[in-house]
Amino acid sequence: MKIAVVRETRPAERRVALVPEQVAKLIQLGYEVAVEPAAGERALFSDDAYRAAGAEVAWGADHAATVVVSVQPLERERLSRLHAGTALISFLPTNPPDVVRTAWRAKLTTFAMELVPRISRAQSMDALSSQAMVAGYRAAIVAAERLPRFFPLSMTAAGTVPPAQVVVLGAGVAGLQAIATAKRLGAVVKAYDVRAAAAEEIASMGAIPIELELGSLEGAGGYAREMTPERAQLQRDLLTPYIEAADALITTAAVPGRTAPMLVSRAMVERMKPGSIVVDLAAESGGNVEGSVAGTELTIGNALVWGGANVPSQMAGPASRLYGQNIASLIQLMTNGGSFDPDFSDEIVAGCCLTHNGEIRYEPIRELLE
Ligand code: NAD
Repeated sequence: MKIAVVRETRPAERRVALVPEQVAKLIQLGYEVAVEPAAGERALFSDDAYRAAGAEVAWGADHAATVVVSVQPLERERLSRLHAGTALISFLPTNPPDVVRTAWRAKLTTFAMELVPRISRAQSMDALSSQAMVAGYRAAIVAAERLPRFFPLSMTAAGTVPPAQVVVLGAGVAGLQAIATAKRLGAVVKAYDVRAAAAEEIASMGAIPIELELGSLEGAGGYAREMTPERAQLQRDLLTPYIEAADALITTAAVPGRTAPMLVSRAMVERMKPGSIVVDLAAESGGNVEGSVAGTELTIGNALVWGGANVPSQMAGPASRLYGQNIASLIQLMTNGGSFDPDFSDEIVAGCCLTHNGEIRYEPIRELLE
């Protein structure tokens, strides 16, 4: 059985779905692996490295493959040319539902990496976490690089350089990684999140939890719930002095299935000091910072505002290695006696399957498609 690794076609996508070391592991499991030419080039994995790991490097491998893996979903035209029954594993957004509709009509079996259940047994397959971790690291590095000041305290014969004051809003996977990185660089970090467990997690990273006395806002699965407009305004008011005192602000807040909450208004950014830097990791999904634009650096008041766009792809090598490990672990779970044979009664397989055999397996999208 063949696994095909496609070359990503979106201009800003530099990642690849499997790196050579994972190809070798899948071959050991009993698969053949075919990789499209230059598939790993932008993540710095050469065709020769894939060949050395045992892969065939060739175009069009997806037509004869049992499983096609990618980071971004394949284009609709390409999907409609695949054989019925081919399995696809990638990020596969359900909104808008067009790509899933094409895959369903072509009778493809699709697995969406963002739907892998976030249970302990699926941790090695959790691509949301692995990519958020990369984004969080990058956010702190961007802030440190753009800030025209030191991150660490420095005491020299010529005087003392004070440490940077960093505020992180949203302390999930990305936020905690941003905190850890900013701390390692020596900044004084304060952070806020609406989840009850967050204060302890923030403190465990050596940062100072911001306590707003607003109560937690937790919904299903330990995720945050959406704020009411009144709560959002109160939260912004209470956060204002913290933002005003910050040299760097990193925002990472998200609510599943919703646009990102607006945590920081333009007026709040305008009160920041000259030379301040704002990194909005949520810029692509609506923005935590009013006025931030994904993929753009702009100035609001005295602050430089950096809007993240496909941030994991900006560190394509490590992001691909982690994503590829997630993909390889999921394929391993779906392998039985050396063959690709997903057990649809398994919670993880069932949880991330969107379409199979002409059926829609994911309830929330059924109404949109049928
Ligand atoms: P996410 O990307 O959906 O959100 C990022 C963070 O933004 C969350 O911590 C959320 O609470 C926060 N947020 C939302 N609205 C906010 C607001 N108004 N103000 C401040 N912060 C706000 O979440 P995520 O990072 O993917 O994960 C969130 C939770 O899921 C964490 O508790 C994490 O530990 C948990 N998790 C569990 C597993 C597992 O058990 N395998 C895996 C991954 C994540």
